[in-house]
Amino acid sequence: MVKVLVTGACGRMGQAVVKSIINDPETELVAAVDLKGGMDAGELVGLKPVGVKVTTDLAAAIAETKPEVMVDFTRPDVVFQNAVLALKNKVAPVIGTTGLGDDAKAELKALSEENDTPVFIAPNFAIGAVLMMLMARQAAKYMPEVEIIELHHDRKLDAPSGTALETANMISEVREAHKQGHPEEKEKIAGARGAQVNGIPIHSVRLPGYVAHQEVIFGGLGQTLTIRHDSLDRESFMPGVVLACKKILGLKGLVIGLDKLM
Ligand code: NAD
Repeated sequence: MVKVLVTGACGRMGQAVVKSIINDPETELVAAVDLKGGMDAGELVGLKPVGVKVTTDLAAAIAETKPEVMVDFTRPDVVFQNAVLALKNKVAPVIGTTGLGDDAKAELKALSEENDTPVFIAPNFAIGAVLMMLMARQAAKYMPEVEIIELHHDRKLDAPSGTALETANMISEVREAHKQGHPEEKEKIAGARGAQVNGIPIHSVRLPGYVAHQEVIFGGLGQTLTIRHDSLDRESFMPGVVLACKKILGLKGLVIGLDKLM
């Protein structure tokens, strides 16, 4: 049984993770941490009480329950300090929270090696989204003109999404960076052509009703190709999160992307 602590346990993703960790026979929920505590983690997610109270102090929870893995679905401005604390205590972080910059990732990599404790980050835990990214990288070899539209619920704090950034980075592995559109194109309103990653425009939509969706649109002579993925429910991320909890202890250093575990 892998002993798991969940941070952000009361959040939309955190609650789904708590439920999945309790329900999987190979994982054990030993602690749940959020800003407000006191309730039983099982009851929080509509299950029977499991005897694990949600608490508010991550350091104390780690010291008392000795987890092997910490799953983090908190906030972009919180996840780094949580991961540092976990690594210093030799707890392996499985990070779902998006918004970690390259510098933060480099620091986590160094800390992971220093403490001989792996750290795993997935911008998207849904298998369909991973396939979308792999297919987009493949398509970009043949159709290098591409734009990304990502669509999320309006409670999301970071833009563009981690999935869109990772998709653009993966496409950049197989395509020369170049400016797209007309060379003399002018934005009449700043931002009209989206944010640019190596010349790939990313457009972010935020509306109530969405969960997590993305279209990667390729354009060629007289044709377009659209690869689209929709997470219709947060359940879509759970098999990936549980898989990461089971596999992380066999990894070394910093590993990014669910495809590395498949
Ligand atoms: P949410 O706002 O519903 O939940 C965040 C939770 O974190 C809240 O309960 C909040 O109280 C808690 N929190 C805030 N500060 C904390 C702290 N210091 N310590 C402990 N808990 C703290 O958000 P959400 O929709 O669940 O999303 C969380 C993150 O997960 C976001 O960054 C989102 O982009 C990301 N996400 C990733 C994936 C993926 O597959 N990687 C999928 C969906 C969402």
